[in-house]
Amino acid sequence: MDIVIATNNLGKVKEFQSLLAPYGYTVKSLKDFPEIEEVEETGTSFEENACMKAEYLAKVLDCLVVADDSGLEVDALNGEPGVYSARYAGLEKDDEKNLQLVLENLKDVAPENKTARFICVMALAKPGELTKTYRGVCEGMIIDEKKGTNGFGYDPIFYFPEYACTTAEMTCEQKGKISHRGKALRLLINDLQ
Ligand code: IMP
Repeated sequence: MDIVIATNNLGKVKEFQSLLAPYGYTVKSLKDFPEIEEVEETGTSFEENACMKAEYLAKVLDCLVVADDSGLEVDALNGEPGVYSARYAGLEKDDEKNLQLVLENLKDVAPENKTARFICVMALAKPGELTKTYRGVCEGMIIDEKKGTNGFGYDPIFYFPEYACTTAEMTCEQKGKISHRGKALRLLINDLQ
């Protein structure tokens, strides 16, 4: 059976491919449908954005679709950047500027109060059926300076206490085991079987 992942990110597609191929799914992505434009994320929650993307594509392509939305929530910033994580410092989606803005906004906050979490919501849509969502959360702290060069986005300032390092200091495999995306993906896959 075909399953379309609502992304142009080949890294994400590979992750899905390796997990879903053993169950007989053929994984496709937006790269296979160049005529279809990416849906704008105009929702106010991760669930709303993921469902919006998945349902639109399931209708247009008439097949099973998975879409995700993710971001960083910082308690001392009232949950910001949240659904605006990719464009916190402006519409150009600049990872470095976004990260620097979080550090700037937290400069007067005590280290113990810099609790934060990565969140990922995956939505699974089938034409004519109710959409299901799966939420993965990864709890950590924001640190003052960047550490590590792996990953992307806010990884260099996201400290994961259990491993005593940032998510930018982990290998892809290590991060996949504890990450918000890994957790949401495993919930979804359990449900697909
Ligand atoms: P999305 O592509 O709309 O889900 O936006 C996700 C944004 O949240 C990214 O651009 C990053 O800024 C941030 N983000 C989500 N997951 C991660 C992660 O695993 N590490 C670092 N930043 C992340």
